[in-house]
Amino acid sequence: MPTQIEVLATLQLVDQSLRAKSLTVSEGEGRVAALEEAVNAQTTAAGAARAELRTLSARQRDLEGRLAAAEAKMKDRRMRITRIRNDKELGLAKREVDLLKEEMNGLEVELMAVMEQVEADTAKLQGLESELARLTGERDTEAAELREKIGRLTAEIERERATRTELMQNVDGELRRKYEMIFSRRGGVAVVEVRGGICQGCRMRVPPQLFNEIQRNEQVILCPSCQRMLFWRSEAEEANG
Ligand SMILES: [Zn+2]
Repeated sequence: MPTQIEVLATLQLVDQSLRAKSLTVSEGEGRVAALEEAVNAQTTAAGAARAELRTLSARQRDLEGRLAAAEAKMKDRRMRITRIRNDKELGLAKREVDLLKEEMNGLEVELMAVMEQVEADTAKLQGLESELARLTGERDTEAAELREKIGRLTAEIERERATRTELMQNVDGELRRKYEMIFSRRGGVAVVEVRGGICQGCRMRVPPQLFNEIQRNEQVILCPSCQRMLFWRSEAEEANG
C-alpha cells in the first residue's frame, strides 16, 4: 500500500502531463482557428477585389461601346458633310463633328484610365488569389496534422483523467485540497523530493529534525521555505531515479 505522499507524487506526474497536454491542445486549437481565419480574411479580400474588377470591367465595356457609337456617328457625319451644299448647314455639321471629336477625346481619356486600373486590379487580384491558394494549402496540411494531434492528445487526456480519479480515491480529502492548492499556486509542482537534506523545489536545506520525519514517510510534511509537500525516496531508489 503506497503512502499518501507516494500517491500524491504519482498524481502529480499525471497532473503535469495533463497540464502540458491541455496546453498543447489549446495552442493547437488556437493555431487551427488562426489558419482558418487567415483563409477567411483572404477569401473576403479576394472576393472584394474580384467584385471591384467586375464593376470596372463593366465600366470599360460601357466606355468602349460609347466610343464605338461615337466613332460610327463621326464617320456618318463626315460622309454627310461631303454632300452638303448649304453654308449654314455645313457650319452646323462641322460644329457637330467638333463636338463629337471632343466627346471621343473625353471617352478615350476615361477609357485609358479605366484600362490602367483594370490592369492594376487584375495584378492585385492575382496576388490575392495566389496568396489565398498558399494559405489554403497551409491550412489544409497544417490544420489536418494539428487536428490529428489534438484528437490523439484528447484521448490521452481522457485516459489520464480516469487514472487521476482512481488515484484521488486513495488520497485523504483534506490532503487532496491542500495538494490542489499548492499545485495551482506553485506552477504545477506541489510534491518535491528531498535529496541529501535539500528541498528540490526551493534548494533550501530542510532542518534535520524535519528530515527525519520526512524519511519516515508517515505524514505529509511541507517545506518550511516553499510550502511544498516533501517526498523522500531511499538512497537505492534515489540512485536509480
Ligand atoms: Zn522547499
